[in-house]
Amino acid sequence: MRFSLENETLIPESLSNKPDSKRISDYESSFPQPLNPSFKYSTELQNLLTGKQLLLEELPFSLEEIHTHYINGYLHYRKCIEKTKDGYSCVRCGNADQKLFASFGCARCKEECTYCRKCINMGRMSECTVLVTWSGPNTNTQIPVKPLAWEGTLSAGQQKASTELIQAVHSNDELLIWAVCGAGKTEILFEGMETALLTGKNVCIATPRTDVVIELAPRIKESFPAIDVIALYGGSEDRNKTAPITLATTHQLLRFYKAFDIIIIDEVDAFPYSAEPMLQYAVNQAKKNISSTIFLTATPNQTWKKEIVAGKRKAVTIPARYHRYPLPVPEFVWCGNWEKLLKKKKLPRNVVFWVKEHLKMNKQAFLFVPRITYLEKMVSLLQAIDPRIQGVHAEDPDRKDKVARFRAGEIPILVTTTILERGVTVPDIDVAVLGAEDKIFTESALVQISGRVGRSAKHPTGEIIFFHYGRTREMIKAKQHIENMNKEAVQNGFVD
Ligand SMILES: [Zn+2]
Ligand SMILES: [Zn+2]
Repeated sequence: MRFSLENETLIPESLSNKPDSKRISDYESSFPQPLNPSFKYSTELQNLLTGKQLLLEELPFSLEEIHTHYINGYLHYRKCIEKTKDGYSCVRCGNADQKLFASFGCARCKEECTYCRKCINMGRMSECTVLVTWSGPNTNTQIPVKPLAWEGTLSAGQQKASTELIQAVHSNDELLIWAVCGAGKTEILFEGMETALLTGKNVCIATPRTDVVIELAPRIKESFPAIDVIALYGGSEDRNKTAPITLATTHQLLRFYKAFDIIIIDEVDAFPYSAEPMLQYAVNQAKKNISSTIFLTATPNQTWKKEIVAGKRKAVTIPARYHRYPLPVPEFVWCGNWEKLLKKKKLPRNVVFWVKEHLKMNKQAFLFVPRITYLEKMVSLLQAIDPRIQGVHAEDPDRKDKVARFRAGEIPILVTTTILERGVTVPDIDVAVLGAEDKIFTESALVQISGRVGRSAKHPTGEIIFFHYGRTREMIKAKQHIENMNKEAVQNGFVD
């Protein structure tokens, strides 16, 4: 049964233990009710709510049933919107920007009701509703003696990081794992996750992108076959489940409250963790008071790098790929004023040569461009050379299909915006960037783009070219970044 929003928050008089309270939002659990051990609680509600914070409207139970659990100490209520000296703040997403609050004539409380606009797509946080969390006993999960079924071998670099991770799990510490693109970061997590499970801890892997959650889920399930693994993203079917291993988009963390012992944040730089306070707020709410936070990245930001050097941030670096070949180093190639040429419906000669060479060799390639407008012009010019060449960008409805066709070898060259800078792994490709001097190509973007080349053990090398009209600091920093990693890998004996 679902709630209709109107009138349903009126509590039956017989259940109201606060004489002047008729509405559920009058209750708040800053003073929790004592737990009544003889109360027969609903295990369904327990399963649904353990570690979560959900809006009343999200719970498929009657208000009477919910409130009975509250009175018996099995649930907490928290007000959604708090009044502050500046106005309002949102309890779920931490929003305190007054421009991001709005009021409406509310049918439920029959008053002008203020709500948070920032997290509205996760359900409306308004003044007259509450977030509900479970405060009764936790669900019992049986963990087998050997939960990890994966039997692969870690490279020396992976092993080093894995050992540090196990340590961080034991000591409830923070750890940054700085692993080059193609280091094999998922496998690095396995032993640490097993350690967690065996010590009764639960694990969440949070990542900014839904694609990653969907790709990761079968690999984790295969590696931990006897453990429940749930995958959470907008529209996921697992949304009402709880499990020892949770995979979630960073956004979904907003629905959790003091839930996780270990929280692993993947691609922490892709979602500007430091620039987006909402994510930091969500992570802090989702983890238990005593817990470990693990950050994974191939390209830490400047602040973090400084903290690592100064010894203020615990970090482990994996400078080499699991296949023990060094990272391909980008080559800078001047290509003149390519923008001006494009306006005249022409392409730089060396770029055309590079494209034709690849068609002739039958070697697939990504060609990165800074903006969609250039992409469309480029694609029409390149299709005159070979009609199979395609372009792809973030808003392209055929994006998934084109990437799949590229993987299948049907598209020889895929022109792309930075949308493909991460995640997409195709075994044997070369990569070029046209207009590498553009602002959009930061050190981190260029390192990620270069990281597309030579990832598989079968094809561990490849070519990465930055076609430019004037080299930038970011280009130089990206090249140095890669060279430094290679140097460190040699020093550690991680490459042959
Ligand atoms: Zn209201
Ligand atoms: Zn909010």
